[in-house]
Amino acid sequence: MEVLYDFGTDEQKEEWLTPLLDGSIRSCFAMTEPDVASSDATNISSSIVSDGDNYIINGRKWWTSNAINPRAKICIFMGVTNPENAPHQRQSQILVPMDSEVFLLLDLCRCMDMMMDTQVILNSYLKM
Ligand SMILES: Cc1cc2nc3c(=O)[nH]c(=O)nc-3n(C[C@H](O)[C@H](O)[C@H](O)COP(=O)(O)OP(=O)(O)OC[C@H]3O[C@@H](n4cnc5c(N)ncnc54)[C@H](O)[C@@H]3O)c2cc1C
Repeated sequence: MEVLYDFGTDEQKEEWLTPLLDGSIRSCFAMTEPDVASSDATNISSSIVSDGDNYIINGRKWWTSNAINPRAKICIFMGVTNPENAPHQRQSQILVPMDSEVFLLLDLCRCMDMMMDTQVILNSYLKM
């Protein structure tokens, strides 16, 4: 909620922040990846590539708390947008609606509703 409050556009606040504040939806944050030491965010390898009005996201996430909560409607997804930059300036976070067709939730039976794999299909397009 703080990310949306501090950095969201008016439209994003209306669509996501207001329902988060009144408790009607939940959010989740997808940073950790199975193939890299994710305690250091400079290792994050998922890619987010701008393609005109759309973004192409390619990556694999896990440990995304709340992702399988039926009320989770928005995911903040971290990935590399500027690979040529210095290591600490390569990453961005993008809002991904959870009802997007490109969002696949895998391994739903892992422990405590906390651990999951999230795979975003290669070359799928997301509307922002
Ligand atoms: C209950 C729970 C909820 C979580 N919810 C979320 C969530 O909502 N979203 C999300 O994105 N993630 C979530 N996570 C994942 C969590 O953020 C990561 O597990 C954490 O950041 C560590 O990353 P990692 O698992 O890749 O471990 P690693 O980075 O592989 O670290 C494993 C160990 O190696 C050490 N280590 C790593 N690199 C080095 C190095 N270069 N030198 C020396 N030691 C090193 C670390 O200190 C650690 O002890 C959750 C985890 C838990 C347990």
